[in-house]
Amino acid sequence: MGLFLSAFTGMSMTPNWAAANPFGPDYVEITANDVIALDIRYATTHNFTGRNVYGTHNTCFLHQQAAAKLFRAAELLRTYSPGYKLLVFDCLRPRSVQRLFWGVVKGTPQQPYVANPDKGSLHNFGFAVDLSLLGPDGHELDMGTPFDAFTEAAQPKLETKLLAKGVLTQPQLERRMILRRVMTEAGFLQLPNEWWHYDALDGKTVRKNYRIVE
Ligand SMILES: [Zn+2]
Repeated sequence: MGLFLSAFTGMSMTPNWAAANPFGPDYVEITANDVIALDIRYATTHNFTGRNVYGTHNTCFLHQQAAAKLFRAAELLRTYSPGYKLLVFDCLRPRSVQRLFWGVVKGTPQQPYVANPDKGSLHNFGFAVDLSLLGPDGHELDMGTPFDAFTEAAQPKLETKLLAKGVLTQPQLERRMILRRVMTEAGFLQLPNEWWHYDALDGKTVRKNYRIVE
């Protein structure tokens, strides 16, 4: 267990990171293959908190329904853009980690970019995935901003304006569209604020029918 999560050991619902599948049979582990690569940023210091908040949990779990869609997106990418890979940054994120994020951003300009843990992010249900693309040369593609850049330039809803202003270039937008095409064809929803974030079902359906992983 990482230093940071050890602060939560007093909580009764602290996830058991050591188990092979700590979340139960409804959740599937996503492993790397020829079209999927993993770079679980919250298991490194390379994220907006500057800390490893996942400890040794350096992997991706999704609810099986979201996992099926991700595998479908990977197959579409293989067809449409041979040589490219999905580059996965984050998947199921327990609410204990969501509370930690909330503590970091609360009262700052970054607050609107992080879901309130009381309601829960779809990541907390295992129904959201954050990802980008690796190009055929194996390098992460330039999408205009890095993952977890809490800025206007990251927002799909502003892309037309960003392009006109030169904040986003045509090639950067085209790369986002390669990802968006396979994800939306596979049944994911792109949210308006983050180019890297996709929900496998709408929030209302998830909150009504599925449980939060604490
Ligand atoms: Zn996300």
